[in-house]
Amino acid sequence: MSFMKQSADLQPIEDTVFAVVSMAKQDIAEHGADAVVDATIGSLYDEQGKLVAYQNVFDHYNAIAKEVKAAYAASFTGNPGFRTQVRNWVLQDQPVTLNTSVIATPGGTGAVNMTMINVLEPGQTVILPEICWGSYNLMAAQAGLKTAAYAMFDGDHFNLDSFEKVCRRVMSEQGRLLAVVNDPCHNPTGYSMSLAEWRQVVRFLNELSEQGPCVILNDIAYIDYSYKGTHSRDYLSTLNELSGNVLAVIAFSCSKTLTSYGLRCGAAVILGQNAQRVREAEIVFEKTARATWSNIPNAAMENFTWITTENREAFEAEKQIYVDLLKQRSGTFIREAAACGLVHYPYKEGFFVTLQMPDNALRDQYHQKLIDHHIYTVKVNKGIRVAVCSLSVAKVKGLAERMKQILDSL
Ligand code: PLP
Repeated sequence: MSFMKQSADLQPIEDTVFAVVSMAKQDIAEHGADAVVDATIGSLYDEQGKLVAYQNVFDHYNAIAKEVKAAYAASFTGNPGFRTQVRNWVLQDQPVTLNTSVIATPGGTGAVNMTMINVLEPGQTVILPEICWGSYNLMAAQAGLKTAAYAMFDGDHFNLDSFEKVCRRVMSEQGRLLAVVNDPCHNPTGYSMSLAEWRQVVRFLNELSEQGPCVILNDIAYIDYSYKGTHSRDYLSTLNELSGNVLAVIAFSCSKTLTSYGLRCGAAVILGQNAQRVREAEIVFEKTARATWSNIPNAAMENFTWITTENREAFEAEKQIYVDLLKQRSGTFIREAAACGLVHYPYKEGFFVTLQMPDNALRDQYHQKLIDHHIYTVKVNKGIRVAVCSLSVAKVKGLAERMKQILDSL
């Protein structure tokens, strides 16, 4: 009999991304980089095919005294300066009037997981986008949660109707709600909701919250790669209209913002009308932190605070170079896709473009055929993800046309 508890899922994680990443590497080793398009890697790469690690982040990090790196953080909730600065960074100049609290977490992953395990009881249902970052489903399963998915799109827009239907059903079943909205720069489609769509979501949650408490988990992992610059946070002021029975938790990640994926730093920003309810979440989240990861790397928090205060201008200027590059890569891909009729989900901004493939069997066939042509992508539900974040402009040029020809040959 297994030593693992009876309810443990003993199936290994099916890491399809890892498998295809290895295949691409092997193909490059055999045929050379020029012969292969590796659109699998979900991190930002430069035009020379190297992982971007911002000078304005890592020069300072490298200069941090070893004693600071060695030390425990000041608190399980995170260093006070970091907590303040995460609030400032996430909200920027948005006039958010809600009560807030910030809990440091190991990346956005920690914030998402912490919210799932504390808002719902095992057996209850968390609401996810139908096309989404795969880890949400794993986190839900680990927490013993069921999932319900809302369709992301109605034509070129957010599918509010589906979101409402799924939320209403789950609320009627369990009298409380946790819904994940990965916005802006949704992974993997690159969609960002409009201000009007956010207003509708807020209005709807307020109405639904008359039946029970609602938590909206807004995952903003890619927000700092929005093409809207200072307007990327405009939607946050719509949260001011949330009723007292709706809590927002924003999952913030330093991984993407600072290109510091391995430093494991991020935060949960809790927002609500009712100070007592925000405090309750803070208390519970602090306990999870203490019992799970204890505290967040001290130097990573100190570095974030320094970069976003004293070094902000230089950091933002360096990051903007890559935001512009991402815009150029994605712009080329979607322009060429439109020209040849390669259909993708509505893309606005961010690391990925995802081809629309409603039939998963056809998607599998197409994915393999692309591999046969030395084009490596990642399968997602009802789609094929193209990581423009790690493809040079030269690699992007002509890619849509090639992909369309391969699709037509199926
Ligand atoms: N949310 C989304 C949508 C992501 O794609 C990722 C990472 O890929 C994360 C959150 C969490 O990243 P991290 O835990 O490194 O901050």
